[in-house]
Amino acid sequence: MKLPHVEYEAPRAVSEAVALLAEHQDEASVLAGGQSLIPLLALRLAQPALLIDINGIAELSGVSATDGWVAIGAMTREYLAEESGTIADAVPLLAAALPLIGHEAIRSRGTVGGSLAHADPAAELPAVARALDAEFVVRGPSGERVVPASEWFEGYLTTSRQPDELLTEVRFPAAGPGTGVSFQEVARRHGDFAMVGLATSVTLSEGAISDARLALAGVSDVPVRVAAAEDLLVGERSSAELFDEAARRAADGIDPPSDLHGSSDYRKKVAAALVRRGLREAVDNAQERQ
Ligand SMILES: Cc1cc2nc3c(=O)[nH]c(=O)nc-3n(C[C@H](O)[C@H](O)[C@H](O)COP(=O)(O)OP(=O)(O)OC[C@H]3O[C@@H](n4cnc5c(N)ncnc54)[C@H](O)[C@@H]3O)c2cc1C
Repeated sequence: MKLPHVEYEAPRAVSEAVALLAEHQDEASVLAGGQSLIPLLALRLAQPALLIDINGIAELSGVSATDGWVAIGAMTREYLAEESGTIADAVPLLAAALPLIGHEAIRSRGTVGGSLAHADPAAELPAVARALDAEFVVRGPSGERVVPASEWFEGYLTTSRQPDELLTEVRFPAAGPGTGVSFQEVARRHGDFAMVGLATSVTLSEGAISDARLALAGVSDVPVRVAAAEDLLVGERSSAELFDEAARRAADGIDPPSDLHGSSDYRKKVAAALVRRGLREAVDNAQERQ
């Protein structure tokens, strides 16, 4: 389908993009990689009066590491993040999730900020951000604010970003020693959105689990932290029985939607299986990194 008529601006600086957002508010949409927005426009599911194309804003791209955090510019392409040695070393959970997004052609245009601003609950990066307590940096007419991941995802394709704010950067904490990770998902075909996905990060200290983070994708209108399983795991030594109980708690704590691809009950079973798999892989990975 053809795109609807829409006005177009291509600012070269964040300040210009923010001024345009302040002027046009809800009437404007930010265009990043376009991999979600363009199909929405073609299907008339989004009908902004103005597209603010941020592809020409160089300051929005790049990966840098400082003080135990890795900062990723919102316009950083998914494939560039996938190839970043800094991300592979410091945020291995993100590195594990990135190759699972769609196909190479999607990742060559799609951006880290675009995925997180779009906030599809079945997407990989929102689950990673939620698991790791990432921080979202947004810039609006009155300056910058930092939003924790726990407050970023508000509902289906909805974040706490205000209409006059631009997402400029996302910061992920660097993994500490003894931390192992896993990203697991079940999708109908390679490259499809996950029916259920799970981001797992586990830290081992002196043989016991000192930190456990699990976030599910595809089971709600937002990515979901599995606090009941995390609480169970911390302080314990890994075992099949422990992981079975964590899986039970994870499944008991969710009420996934049913759709054409699978029932709610099926998604619960998949979530439980992924928790077992994710924990096994993350613990093995942590033992290798100790
Ligand atoms: C065939 C296909 C398969 C896909 N499979 C997957 C998959 O398996 N997993 C997955 O996670 N994704 C998948 N995607 C989506 C892909 O990851 C997109 O790249 C991503 O969701 C959106 O990123 P984008 O840069 O293309 O954003 P755009 O499409 O340009 O924008 C998406 C939304 O975010 C807003 N936005 C973008 N950047 C900013 C910003 N800096 N500040 C404020 N608002 C902003 C836009 O206004 C828009 O509302 C798939 C896409 C396609 C077409």
